[in-house]
Amino acid sequence: MKIEVDQPKLLSEIEALAAISDAEAPAVTRIVFTPTDLKARAWLKVRCQEAALTIREDAIGNTFARWIGSDSKLPAVGTGSHIDAIPNAGKYDGVVGVLGALEAIRALQRSGFHPRHSIELLMFTAEEPTRFGIGCIGSRLLSGTLSLEAARKLKDSDGNSLDEVREKAGFAAKFEAVKLPANYYKAFVELHIEQGPLLEREKIPLGVVTSIAAPASLRITIEGSGGHAGAVLMPDRHDSLCAAAELILAIENSARASGAVDTVATVGICEVFPGAVNSIPSRVHLTADIRDTDLKRRDEVMQTIETAARAIAARRGVAIHSELLNADAPAQCAPAVIDALSQSCRKHNLNFLPMVSRAYHDSLFISRIAPTAMLFIACRNGYSHRPDEYASPEDIARGTLVLAETLAALSQ
Ligand SMILES: [Zn+2]
Repeated sequence: MKIEVDQPKLLSEIEALAAISDAEAPAVTRIVFTPTDLKARAWLKVRCQEAALTIREDAIGNTFARWIGSDSKLPAVGTGSHIDAIPNAGKYDGVVGVLGALEAIRALQRSGFHPRHSIELLMFTAEEPTRFGIGCIGSRLLSGTLSLEAARKLKDSDGNSLDEVREKAGFAAKFEAVKLPANYYKAFVELHIEQGPLLEREKIPLGVVTSIAAPASLRITIEGSGGHAGAVLMPDRHDSLCAAAELILAIENSARASGAVDTVATVGICEVFPGAVNSIPSRVHLTADIRDTDLKRRDEVMQTIETAARAIAARRGVAIHSELLNADAPAQCAPAVIDALSQSCRKHNLNFLPMVSRAYHDSLFISRIAPTAMLFIACRNGYSHRPDEYASPEDIARGTLVLAETLAALSQ
């Protein structure tokens, strides 16, 4: 069996999909369930039909295109990613994992290969959080990570509920049916650009992802007491911003002290009230984002932050309240899928780097219900979510070849 990737065709399809956009080229904007997104979905379905794949869509618009295996009752081998794009994005994030997977399937078909397990391309709905404020809606629902009750409460900035919007877009089936049954997939592989600089820096074309980091985010409110910047003397102060400053450093220290490079903590928002030059800050809002590849370690960092907050509050006479906004568990990739990817790289003499996915992807959620791993392609300067995002045609073709080889191995 000789697998040959049709690089010109794959590239022309990436360009064609990039042209279906609400932003002017080279930028790509494709927000879920907008007319542009629906146009892109229709375009993709035609490409899948041309490859003689059997198409199914669920109630949230996740699109499945299946190459039926000789033993169609067996669990399928899944692959795919997303085609929605944040405002002013590039053309490779997600798309490479969808069109690369389609080309991988076509390359296997051309090689004369016949899978025993079905091979299924999956295009996830709303990986990006742009419209509904939460990412990976499709894969969360497929894996049962997002409850239907919570999904029904999601609204876009115009006040339209997810339920209304998906129905208007033509996806009217029952929400309940989205969750995949147990053992639906034998394995799942997602091809994706790295969105970081490591592969390029190391001059290694491919990365085999061994774990996916995940964030927990906190909204922290610090209530002190305000007052005149001249009249309130230092012994009487309960300055909320000074307390916030201590807490921000405690958050940074908690990540540094974990002893693992994979632990990171960031305070990205600090809002100060009333925000006047001659007024003692009475209230501060902070957000903290704490990420790790290990849930226990991340939880310990959260605990350390909580303890520090209590100590600062007591010492400074302020009230500190923190609210957990989100806490997805990180994932370890499946050894069997990591092995299949690694062996496929070796078979084609392609160097690869075992690595951590610092961003999270649909695979994080699919890993809850299927043995999952990811394959990364180098991207220029690590740029992503911007119009100059770029992966070389050669690297895209290499990733697609390794994906095809891996799908063949897993589907036998
Ligand atoms: Zn992506």
